Amino acid sequence: MLIHNATLPDGRTGIDLLVQQGRIAAVGPNLQAPEGAPVIEADGWLLSPPFVDAHFHMDATLSYGLPRVNASGTLLEGIALWGELKPQLTEEALVERALQYCDWAVARGLLAIRSHVDVCDERLLAVRALLYVKQKVSPYLDLQLVAFPQDGVLRSAGALLNLQRALDLGVDVVGGIPHFERTMADGAESVKLLCELAAERGLRVDMHCDESDDPLSRHIETLAFHTQRLGLQGRVTGSHLTSMHSMDNYYVSKLIPLMAEAGLHAVANPLINITLQGRHDTYPKRRGMTRVPELLAGGVNVGFGHDCVMDPWYSLGSGDMLEVAAMGLHVAQMTSQQGMRQCFDAVTVNNARILGLEGYGLAPGCRADFLLLQARSPAEALRLRAARLLVVRGGEVIARSPAASASLNLPGRPLNVDFTLQRDPVPSGATEPPSIE
Ligand SMILES: [Zn+2]
Repeated sequence: MLIHNATLPDGRTGIDLLVQQGRIAAVGPNLQAPEGAPVIEADGWLLSPPFVDAHFHMDATLSYGLPRVNASGTLLEGIALWGELKPQLTEEALVERALQYCDWAVARGLLAIRSHVDVCDERLLAVRALLYVKQKVSPYLDLQLVAFPQDGVLRSAGALLNLQRALDLGVDVVGGIPHFERTMADGAESVKLLCELAAERGLRVDMHCDESDDPLSRHIETLAFHTQRLGLQGRVTGSHLTSMHSMDNYYVSKLIPLMAEAGLHAVANPLINITLQGRHDTYPKRRGMTRVPELLAGGVNVGFGHDCVMDPWYSLGSGDMLEVAAMGLHVAQMTSQQGMRQCFDAVTVNNARILGLEGYGLAPGCRADFLLLQARSPAEALRLRAARLLVVRGGEVIARSPAASASLNLPGRPLNVDFTLQRDPVPSGATEPPSIE
């Protein structure tokens, strides 16, 4: 397959991409298609690596309203509601909802998801269901699972044993929730023991960490410490980190360099953070999202996660990582050209680094997984939630969407509206996107 005349996220235009045996064989101008190879005309649209979600809960997705709706809209009522739903779950219903969500994801060009799976259940029902789903979707979607002790690995009886059983069954990553343990000391102890468990087993770590408006919730500091101590650099992620929003600035000036030194990844979940955090505030209300531009500037890899779609915590969402990135852009006020590009990276390359995906990207040798978006640049893709014209996996087209267009029937007005026409376009042809501060 040859893709002809695409624009790349770095701004290069007129680029061809050649696929051979499921891998990218060449990328550049004026490539020749081998005899008989299909040529797909990209018409200058944006060719991007697939979207990646670094933080999701596939065991809870599409359960909105079961057994009731979250009335307060808070994180804690969501956790209580999930506790009410858990005894009613069946493996069949979990599998069905997860597979439906994966269909949505593929249609939106989301081809890799890290999902937490609750292990605080003697039966490990959700673990078994999602391990089945992982294998079932593997031809078209990379599903990475995190053993997540929702009720606290120390606070909930038997949770540590169940977490270890889940890892034995094939769950990929060690999870945790230190801010939900009974005390700060227990939270710190949970970070220590879970990092040690990951180091012993050679696994990655991804903790729900400091998902709180409490500025004194500082488990991320402990996570950085044990990451460093155990040599886990580059393999550990702090998810949410919302308390950083409320922390003292002086303390943060010490913390971010420690996080960078430990090679920690950070995941913000913009849709969820902006709706769950600050619920105890009157006015002004805190946004609650972690300090994304400051972390990036400090050398920490930051990804954005969807976290929830139609579940006890969030009634909206559709698997569209462009919606996630656009919300992150607004909440973090990352409106410069560079900032918008960073938000696009946060749902593509940055998340791929967090998952440790092999062969991800648009370089020769990478897996032939990519999207053709109806946009001329990453910023335009964010602005328009661009149509996913093609979704390609291993060199095969696995989803298509029609181009977005509208016909108007107004007196004396043009009939077709093209929302991609730029009045003041970003200069193209540059190898690096221009930075306009
Ligand atoms: Zn989560």
